[in-house]
Amino acid sequence: MIGLIAATAAGTAARDRLAAAWPGRTRAYEGPVREAVTRAFAECEQLVCFLAAGAAVRLIAPLLSDKACDPGVVCVDEAQQYAVALLGGHAGGSNELAEQVCDVLGGRPVVTTATDAVSIPGLDTLGWPVEGAVAAVSRAMLDGSPVHLDAHDVHPLPPLPPNVTATTDSDVRIMVTDRAVTPDDRTAVLRPPTLVVGVGASKGAPAEEVRQLIAAALADAGLSPCSVAALATVDAKAEEPGIVAAAERLGVPLVTYDARRLGAVEVPHPSDAPLAAVGTASVAEAAALLGAGAGGELLVPKRKSAPPSGPATATAAVARRRPRGRLAVVGLGPGARDLLTPRARAELRRASVVVGLDQYVGQIRDLLRPGTRVLESGLGAEEERARTAVAEARAGHAVALIGSGDAGVYAMASPALAEAADDIDVIGVPGVTAALAAAAILGAPLGHDHVSISLSDLHTPWEVIERRVRAAAESDLVVTFYNPRSRGRDWQLPKALAVLAEHRSPQTPVGVVHAASRPDERSEVTTLAGLDVTTVDMVTVVTVGNSATRQVAGRMVTPRGYRWQR
Ligand code: SAH
Repeated sequence: MIGLIAATAAGTAARDRLAAAWPGRTRAYEGPVREAVTRAFAECEQLVCFLAAGAAVRLIAPLLSDKACDPGVVCVDEAQQYAVALLGGHAGGSNELAEQVCDVLGGRPVVTTATDAVSIPGLDTLGWPVEGAVAAVSRAMLDGSPVHLDAHDVHPLPPLPPNVTATTDSDVRIMVTDRAVTPDDRTAVLRPPTLVVGVGASKGAPAEEVRQLIAAALADAGLSPCSVAALATVDAKAEEPGIVAAAERLGVPLVTYDARRLGAVEVPHPSDAPLAAVGTASVAEAAALLGAGAGGELLVPKRKSAPPSGPATATAAVARRRPRGRLAVVGLGPGARDLLTPRARAELRRASVVVGLDQYVGQIRDLLRPGTRVLESGLGAEEERARTAVAEARAGHAVALIGSGDAGVYAMASPALAEAADDIDVIGVPGVTAALAAAAILGAPLGHDHVSISLSDLHTPWEVIERRVRAAAESDLVVTFYNPRSRGRDWQLPKALAVLAEHRSPQTPVGVVHAASRPDERSEVTTLAGLDVTTVDMVTVVTVGNSATRQVAGRMVTPRGYRWQR
């Protein structure tokens, strides 16, 4: 919950706008300001104070306890010109909150956390637990002094500055490990989510017994509970309270598997008891191995709990996953920077490797963090780009594969995902595709059913394309043509328009948009009979209306077809 505190009339008005924009996310604290801040500080994860920074500092100072649990605090000035991330930039999320506040109220976020301000990723922003000398190591990263990256495997980390390398000789270290090490005052330890604990339990096994068993299994093998990615068990135990409680306690998901699948996993210690009870000769070992996936290794074989009295009721085993690389497939939108989504921007900065067509890389190069490896190639090398992106992710890196518009529309997502196996994580970030960018310029041409058709016959035989155009013509769909015309491909567009004209009047509105949202944007609304195809090139989309589409005040409008709207 985000606590809102305002003192003045302007502050209260801004507070109410924020509350209205974020239903269910905020709570307004009324009454004397000091008491309101005190209550909100105790009850909320984040605070937005419509107060002078000085006033907020004085009110909050006596309440501070610990960076890890204090709420994030953002301060907004009387004129809402600035949202200052005052406290808890990373752990409290106030840097991000300041940006979100500005999205609603206008104004500019003020972020003073050093790592954000100079474009170095904070060690505590990766979503992985981090322990040890985070402040000292961050300081060294910022100062440019040598930092040793001590990692056994390749992990999907964001790009680190050039003073952080595996070969750097320094006692200031970032360790990336799932081992239980105790960091000294010059070491920060990042905990990758690599361990899967398989758990079995008889009905009613006490939560404390399950918890202790897991803790002992990890501790005896020298493994850190902070690297546990999941608990795994058999379907029949999905609601076993002791197991559910153990997963909650570790803050990890509980995944469950069908007994038959578990029974098919080869394990070192099968036994008859679970076979009789749940239908598989192994629960703990088999579930740990299945959870770890291909290339997983069993680190801790099955062990049993040691209750103070009576027989053991729980078993546990631990397996390690191969580090999973990360492939983000990111749509950059049609061109204009403000049509690039915040999520796309975040993924570009999260990636240590960016793969894409050179002209698209050029579009976003300034957003990349220093140290990002850029693999750009020219037109045509699509399959190679897709393969490169997947191979880099399989090697464990954080990769962004970029494309203009939406990366899944006539673009890289499908060749890449056709190559990818389930040993990498894939994150899709949608982008504003050319048809939508063009429609917004033309008016409302897509107000009823519509299709997109690419006229490029490089990968699709013309007969197939023509059949689809004909089907669209017969079913009276609005059609947007991508890849409509190039120097070497000039007869396809006239042919496609002729097919549409067999079913639509010559006066049917047609919209032509060149370079939507870019500096050389050009657009025209004309008709099927009036279109001059020589104005169309490969940076253009052509949208042909259906039989109901009209021109209204120079704009293209396709009625939704409701009876009240003629
Ligand atoms: N993935 C892209 C489409 C790639 S196919 C997207 O979702 O938009 C390439 C075709 O898209 C071009 O030939 C052109 O028809 C269209 N296109 C891409 N960007 C455009 C823009 N800014 N303005 C007009 N058309 C565009």
